[in-house]
Amino acid sequence: MKKKTAFIYDESYFWHNSGDGVLFEPPGKYLQVSGSVESPESKRRFKNLLERSGLMKQLHQISPIEATNEQLTYFHTQEHIQNVKHLSETTGGDSGDSAIVGIGSYEIAKLAVGGAIVGVRSVIENPIIENAYVLTRPPGHHAESNQGFGFCLFNNGVIATRYAQKELGIKKVLVLDWDAHHGNGTEDAFYEDDSVLYISIHQEGLDPIDRGNMEDIGRGKGKGYTINIPLLAASGNAVYEYVFDQIVLPATHQFQPDLIIVLAGQDANMFDPLARMMLSADAYKQMTAQVKKLAEQYCQGRMLCLHEGGYSPEYVPFCSHAIVEELSGITTDVYDPFVYAMEGTSFRQLLPHQKARVDEVRAFHGL
Ligand SMILES: [Zn+2]
Repeated sequence: MKKKTAFIYDESYFWHNSGDGVLFEPPGKYLQVSGSVESPESKRRFKNLLERSGLMKQLHQISPIEATNEQLTYFHTQEHIQNVKHLSETTGGDSGDSAIVGIGSYEIAKLAVGGAIVGVRSVIENPIIENAYVLTRPPGHHAESNQGFGFCLFNNGVIATRYAQKELGIKKVLVLDWDAHHGNGTEDAFYEDDSVLYISIHQEGLDPIDRGNMEDIGRGKGKGYTINIPLLAASGNAVYEYVFDQIVLPATHQFQPDLIIVLAGQDANMFDPLARMMLSADAYKQMTAQVKKLAEQYCQGRMLCLHEGGYSPEYVPFCSHAIVEELSGITTDVYDPFVYAMEGTSFRQLLPHQKARVDEVRAFHGL
């Protein structure tokens, strides 16, 4: 029997209230209130597109369950957990640095972590599941051990990785973070650890500023197990293809993971308001295909995508739908309705200064 792709989400993921900010700032004075850019829309419209295209029916849907307090402590301090709980039960507010907790967000955030955990368990233990996509919200990759950060309350990816290692006997995990921002909390978690290879492909200089530099490669026995690839603004499909060819593939061949977790933030898309990259939906399909091949080679196909950033409500659904098509091996008649408008740009080209940056990172890591 052909194994299926699991799709994991809960309606309550769309009910997390990330506040009435303006882009990522609180409203007031000259900032007319409009709602945080981290709204449910891009995620809900992705789920809707999966239903509209008919792909959802061909996936294996699984409901998440809330992560336990013990599982949250695989990464977070008890103080941070209790602070999120307190804010959720009282006034709401910021749990750290631009990570708003709404009323009731504590349970939803635990359900997001729980979705990641259920996803890991499914790809490892469920014989009919090959891989999984979890529509996690709130997202996770910025969350630090002792505070929320950048829309992220709990670090879904870190806790799922630790769950796989502690409770399912998985030894080596590749965590591939293609969100356009650097996953500072995730890097911190694995910085001195040689059992997790953390690769982050991001736009240089975005928030968090001064994180994700090429020179940050891990510490102690984790030295060499963090690979930061800070790309120049306006890098597009051809640059990411070159990054996979020159860095992601050889580094993974060296590491030989038992499980691959993709921190799938689709905010490097060409229409995103929070980054200046140039990926089309097809780039996400191609990257997924490459990771899937690696998972088949080293991990018996076991791979998991966790939804992270992505702030164009109109375009993120097409990028994420392309990922799920590739994961499942099912092609639908959904096409990219917007890419034609960018065909006159350089997004399919590997320009010399972009190539030089990738070559620099590759050489720095001796790949
Ligand atoms: Zn991001």
